[in-house]
Amino acid sequence: QTKITRATKTAGKRDDGASESLRQSYRRSDDAVVFKVLCYDTTSWVRENFEPQVEAFNQNQEFIVLKMDYTADRLDVNTASYAVGYDGVCLFVNDTASADVLQILSMGGVGVICMRCAGFDRVDLNAAKTFGLDVVRVPAYSPYAVAEHAIALLMSVNRKTHSANTRVKMANFTLDSGLLGMDIHGKNVGVMGTGKIGQILCSIVKGFGANLLVYDVFEADCVKEMGGKYVSKEEIYQICDVIFLMMPLLPATKHTINADVLPLLKKGVIIINTSRGGLIDTTALLDGIKSGIIGGAGLDVYENEGDYFFQDWSAKNVDDPVLQQLLGNNKIVMTAHQAFFTREAIDKIVSTTIENIQEYSEGIRGKDLSNSV
Ligand code: NAD
Repeated sequence: QTKITRATKTAGKRDDGASESLRQSYRRSDDAVVFKVLCYDTTSWVRENFEPQVEAFNQNQEFIVLKMDYTADRLDVNTASYAVGYDGVCLFVNDTASADVLQILSMGGVGVICMRCAGFDRVDLNAAKTFGLDVVRVPAYSPYAVAEHAIALLMSVNRKTHSANTRVKMANFTLDSGLLGMDIHGKNVGVMGTGKIGQILCSIVKGFGANLLVYDVFEADCVKEMGGKYVSKEEIYQICDVIFLMMPLLPATKHTINADVLPLLKKGVIIINTSRGGLIDTTALLDGIKSGIIGGAGLDVYENEGDYFFQDWSAKNVDDPVLQQLLGNNKIVMTAHQAFFTREAIDKIVSTTIENIQEYSEGIRGKDLSNSV
């Protein structure tokens, strides 16, 4: 690992008694900087995976001690003040870094927003610039994890393994009532968004022997080389038996699947979304499933997931009527934003986040940060 040079020791701003004892516990030089980061929306997997890697990082550093604290609370206007006195915050997909939140963070001394994910659609980048905050992220951890999970959702929606498993466990070994699926081989499969994850997905789809139709604002040569055909959005809607949404959530992609699109879709189409919930107008999706235009959906994300995902609501009332309908519909298979959740991806998320923090603590700023947004 790269040693931090003495020239960088001014990066950590506060130096209190706790910092002194941390330095002592790592037998650091008196000049060592303690760099403090508050990790929001912490569930047990976050802590279990960050703590050993932070410890290992600190064992290898002479002039910096990284002190990572954790809170289970999400970042929002009510919790932003927790970060007063920290140098950075570490955020996840459902933390809100709006302009008012970023102002509080900046006033409290925070200098860097470290996303421990690829997406940054909940960070107001203009406000971050205004308040002098750097934003870094983990641009790629495992595109395989997300692409493979998207396929798992497709296979469950198509072959009804979620229903079949429940029935078999209840000793109902019949094939009656709703287990019939279709071959993916030979079907028209549409992939909207052929970036890092979309490209891996395309290669898996080709492995099924499906016809691969793709849509993106940029065409990727590797997708064409593997036999993918770039077509218009409308063609995807009209001829595809399966549609995967693999683009980021942007103003241009919000509610890609909406009420106006429903009449264009091939009857019985299966829609899979592992990207961001906002790509789908959920009420329109439910209408499409009720009318039979949409045959089923596999969703790892939901547009209003922020209030629920990553928390245990099993003993409480889910009071979002749209989410209730999603949960109650057997043609919809749902997971709670876990597409990324593999051993390989987590290791990469943690190591890249620590590298991002290290760079910032060395005094690197703005676009010079390797993973700046
Ligand atoms: P990427 O940036 O590599 O690829 C995104 C692709 O979308 C690019 O090819 C881009 O040109 C295309 N695109 C942009 N605007 C578009 C538009 N208007 N219409 C069509 N295509 C458009 O991103 P990625 O690494 O492949 O990730 C895709 C998304 O997956 C991320 O934005 C993130 O939201 C989501 N994601 C989800 C999870 C999860 O656990 N569920 C994990 C990681 C990423």
